Amino acid sequence: MSHSRSFWSLLVILTIGAIVLFAYFGKQLSGEPALVKIDNFQLGTLIEIQAWDNSLTETEVKAAIQGAFGAISDVENTMSWNLPGSAVSRINEAAGIEPVEVAHSVIAVLSTAREVSELSGGAFDVTIGSVLRLWGFSTPGPKAPPSPADLAEALDRLDYTAVELTATAPTVYLRHVGMQMDLGGIAKGFAIDRASEKLKEAGVSNFIVNAGGDMFVSGNRNNGTSWRIGVRDPLGGDSLLCKLLISGCAVVTSGNYERFFDYNGKRYHHIINPKTGYPSVGCSSVTIITSRAEFADAVATAVFVLGPERGLDLIERLEGVEGLIVSSGDERRLPSSGFGQFLHGGSLDE
Ligand code: ADP
Ligand code: MG
Repeated sequence: MSHSRSFWSLLVILTIGAIVLFAYFGKQLSGEPALVKIDNFQLGTLIEIQAWDNSLTETEVKAAIQGAFGAISDVENTMSWNLPGSAVSRINEAAGIEPVEVAHSVIAVLSTAREVSELSGGAFDVTIGSVLRLWGFSTPGPKAPPSPADLAEALDRLDYTAVELTATAPTVYLRHVGMQMDLGGIAKGFAIDRASEKLKEAGVSNFIVNAGGDMFVSGNRNNGTSWRIGVRDPLGGDSLLCKLLISGCAVVTSGNYERFFDYNGKRYHHIINPKTGYPSVGCSSVTIITSRAEFADAVATAVFVLGPERGLDLIERLEGVEGLIVSSGDERRLPSSGFGQFLHGGSLDE
């Protein structure tokens, strides 16, 4: 009698144990590990991180994503021009006065910026700040183009060769009074790279860090197929310019639809030609694919300023960089010679 009672107790315990174990490992047995997706508003845009990894629990993947958001916050706190105490604010306040001590990350970003300035003959220039402040894209209220006199004065303080970097100290010095640095054309890409590094350090090998359409893509989807990335059509709406299949690289797009205002029937957008002080003409959008989002971000802005012909020349000159330019007016699509390898379906009309 007592023997049979202990037999039934054992059976109940074993059954409960089996149910618990099946619930725990069921997901893995069914083949699809959970994809974790978290959104966060940072850098003035919606950042979405999707990630999964076979060797990590959902809780560990979530913690890794929070770590990545932390890395983006660090970049934002360092590189925002309108945040008192940020490295960029301190550099701007000390323009023409003295070098400012900064973190190594600032030197790293400014070195890439310098490289892209040189590659593009000054089309990309982080000393664009004084001109950008006149246009006031990021300040609320009605806007109008600046007066030619104000623009001429601001253009006098635009010169990337006057940014002095001392890597050993490390310090940054803007040589002229009134010079203003603005990292809006590169900081987002740098933040995407830092977030991606954080995820990799935490052991996550499959993810997308998407900052408002600019992203780094790693590994595959949790069903084993490649990540598919839609590139927005600059003509607007929800239609896509193309769909990409990519892994292990960044995709960054600069467009004239991101930030703009209309004045007397004319549209003025936020990518400025440093030679004229006016919004650059010639491109509607530029998409760049390469291994680092930081470099992709700066190159996309540079190509946008150079215009379709010279811009495409620059992309073709750069090793490991592909791109797609949409020209303004006729909306022609100009892919670089190797862009097709990333197209889902192989052609632009897909
Ligand atoms: P988004 O920020 O919309 O992704 P971009 O990467 O093209 O677009 O960056 C545009 C930003 O870059 C502007 O808002 C401004 O802060 C900055 N910028 C504008 N013109 C230039 C330029 N010629 N060189 C460097 N930075 C620029
Ligand atoms: Mg850019």
